[in-house]
Amino acid sequence: MQIRENFPLKSYNTFSIDAKARLFNEFSSVEELEEYLMLYSQYPIFILGGGSNILFTKDYDGTVLKNNIRGIDLQHEDAEYVYVKVGAGENWHQFVLHCINHNWAGIENLSLIPGNIGAAPIQNIGAYGVELDEVFWSLEAFHLQERRIHTLTAADCEFGYRDSVFKNRYKDQFAILSVTFQLKKKPVYHVSYGAITEELEKMGVRELNIKAVSQAVINIRSSKLPDPEKIPNSGSFFKNPEVPTEKYEALKLQFPNIVAYPLAKGTVKLAAGWMIEQCGWKGYRKGDAGCHAKQALVLVNYGNATGKEIYDLSEEILQSVNEKFGVMLEREVNII
Ligand SMILES: Cc1cc2nc3c(=O)[nH]c(=O)nc-3n(C[C@H](O)[C@H](O)[C@H](O)COP(=O)(O)OP(=O)(O)OC[C@H]3O[C@@H](n4cnc5c(N)ncnc54)[C@H](O)[C@@H]3O)c2cc1C
Repeated sequence: MQIRENFPLKSYNTFSIDAKARLFNEFSSVEELEEYLMLYSQYPIFILGGGSNILFTKDYDGTVLKNNIRGIDLQHEDAEYVYVKVGAGENWHQFVLHCINHNWAGIENLSLIPGNIGAAPIQNIGAYGVELDEVFWSLEAFHLQERRIHTLTAADCEFGYRDSVFKNRYKDQFAILSVTFQLKKKPVYHVSYGAITEELEKMGVRELNIKAVSQAVINIRSSKLPDPEKIPNSGSFFKNPEVPTEKYEALKLQFPNIVAYPLAKGTVKLAAGWMIEQCGWKGYRKGDAGCHAKQALVLVNYGNATGKEIYDLSEEILQSVNEKFGVMLEREVNII
């Protein structure tokens, strides 16, 4: 165990915010985590993955514990599926590539999402028409107070749109240790979302396969989203809000071009990026905090923005969208 004090977190969050942790430690097994908890139970704990969905608005007055548990194990298989258990500290995209190499289907549309396996269930990551809960089988998580391992099924996790029990009732209570996925031996393709079909055509793909779908998603994402290595960011800062159909219809009369997707249950999902753009924020910059020029949903740090500056900008955006559309956006990024 190597506990560091007053530890700089700039290279541990994709927003590149220059915050510090009172204490910092890494663990590669549940035993190492337990060992730490026995010695330092007095401080609050923040479990860190790849740091790609967080915004530090101040220094963290507790311990940041980085989860480095590794391992990809094929547990068992049947005629249709493989069941693969993956350590929480494995990189998400590397796991996607591993699945493609083994011809395990289901997460090819989730290619190039930054971060680690352990955080994927926290907000039920999703992209290009697929969400994690479609391939999720179970997870193992260590309860930080009870000091014991729980196994949670999909029902226990209460997955929703960019949401799970870990953002609500169980917030900050568990360290996720591993996730088990149920992946298909025979792929079912989801290519109608976004520009996947056009991209596949451009790539000259005649017969669909998961490697090609993954590459198409990678190409589209690389052309649209800012690379955090070049312009630090945490992806979509806000969720797309769901509103009742009546509210959508009223908005549509006022804003005929409003971008929206009908959902099954009498609600409609509005494109937050479109609303932010209509309020004039796209490409806006104040100091080093900004709203990306190509993708209004993404807030960026052009260099030395503080977390507070990014947060204040997000607050201004929330207020202006609410004034114009009467819709209160919700932040997707975890504010710390
Ligand atoms: C350029 C870019 C594009 C993105 N695109 C998408 C996208 O298309 N779809 C999408 O859904 N997300 C997207 N994201 C957001 C992000 O990639 C995901 O939310 C990812 O799952 C975060 O993983 P992480 O390991 O970086 O989590 P972190 O940022 O380290 O942590 C996020 C939260 O999870 C908690 N946590 C992390 N690991 C554990 C663990 N083992 N146990 C318990 N709690 C834990 C943390 O405490 C924190 O609250 C994008 C981000 C970026 C920067």
